[in-house]
Amino acid sequence: SCLSRIEALEPELSALLALTAARGREEAARVDGMIARGDDPGPLAGVPVVLKDNMCLRGVPATCASRILEGWIPPYDAGVAELLAGAGAVFAGKANMDEFAMGSSTEFSAFHPTSNPWDIGRVPGGSSGGSAAAVAAGYAPLALGSDTGGSIRQPASYCGLYGLKPTYGLVSRWGLVAFASSLDQIGPFARTVEDLALLLSVIAAPDARDGTCSRRERPDYTAPPAAASLRGKRIAVVKELDAMRSSVDPEVRRVLENTLNLCREEGAEIVEVSLPVSLEFGLPCYYILAPAEASSNLARFDGVRYGLSCREDALLDLYLTTRGAGFGAEVKRRILTGTYVLSSGYYDAYYLTAQKVRSLMKAEFRKAFEGCDLIALPTAPTPAFKKGEMVDDPVRMYLADVFTLPVNLAELPALSLNGGFTGGENPLPVGVQFIAPQWGEPELLNAAAVLER
Ligand code: GLN
Repeated sequence: SCLSRIEALEPELSALLALTAARGREEAARVDGMIARGDDPGPLAGVPVVLKDNMCLRGVPATCASRILEGWIPPYDAGVAELLAGAGAVFAGKANMDEFAMGSSTEFSAFHPTSNPWDIGRVPGGSSGGSAAAVAAGYAPLALGSDTGGSIRQPASYCGLYGLKPTYGLVSRWGLVAFASSLDQIGPFARTVEDLALLLSVIAAPDARDGTCSRRERPDYTAPPAAASLRGKRIAVVKELDAMRSSVDPEVRRVLENTLNLCREEGAEIVEVSLPVSLEFGLPCYYILAPAEASSNLARFDGVRYGLSCREDALLDLYLTTRGAGFGAEVKRRILTGTYVLSSGYYDAYYLTAQKVRSLMKAEFRKAFEGCDLIALPTAPTPAFKKGEMVDDPVRMYLADVFTLPVNLAELPALSLNGGFTGGENPLPVGVQFIAPQWGEPELLNAAAVLER
């Protein structure tokens, strides 16, 4: 049914870069065999899952939606892919994305854009837009995305889904093509809280091959939703949001208000916290640190080791021609910015200053959580925007992540849920984001479960 759904809708949505039907059938046969032998096939037995195309699956091309990786076939499975296969999941396809996860609309894919299933004239968000569109359109009940500055939560908001960005270090990054290593986390998309929790339980495991993956014991995230409660919880609104009113769509503000009212009705106390550094300087800080890390991470694509190789007589020419032809404009912009902020003479002014701001943001969140259990913010300032509206205006596109970026810089977990829809003839989903202290995923799932009923 998953494959026929894909066949019917993919011509309009273009959410995938590859089908993994052969590998999927192999896995399905293995699961069938286990069931026939009476073995436990795992908590995701036979469940189709879509992976963003920056995660490695042995024998299946991984392109990161970039020409520079065209033709490269990973010889190994990512840590999350091993865990999924071990849980009985069946890989359905690799999802479209912004090239190397840089973008907020999936229009920066080198291959094709993806449409939002709610309105095909609009973007699904990004950079995990293919994963989000695939789950929203019913290709598969589950998908994985990666979130460096909002790339799971913002597409979840635009597509009406649950999307979770885990605490930094909860999920292994082994086999995830690196964008900004100190910010990247893999996380789940789903249409129900129960599904989201189940997928998180499977992927949240220690992995010695990722030195930043925590060894702490993970709780069971699949607590029965019936036991969820917000009684006595303090949920914070952010003071600085008021001053930003004019840049937040009125429908987004209305949906956030509604969601907070529901929390109040469920027994939560609504309090206020202040995050002045994060909301004012989070975005510039991110657009220094993320490109800096990206410029270093992407140095490996040299025309020798992976994918595209433009033959030239001199080695330097090989590098230059391959990188010139293989990377898209946005990726080049990030590499140039990153190289600039790391260069001698500018390092102190940009990179070092941004690192200091990042420390201030962490301290600011720590202080805020002394007075609350969760912080509520819009996931994005607007609902899904129209295709083509922002492709030529990078700074406007960057603003789509103003509420999500601080969470990555502070290494915190956050969950985006559908808080409601815009009014009018073509209603669009609008997300609300809850942020928790480090390792606070159970709190996030608890709140989402209450709001789901
Ligand atoms: N939109 C942000 C960027 O372009 C975040 C992307 C992400 O989270 N991967 O960098």
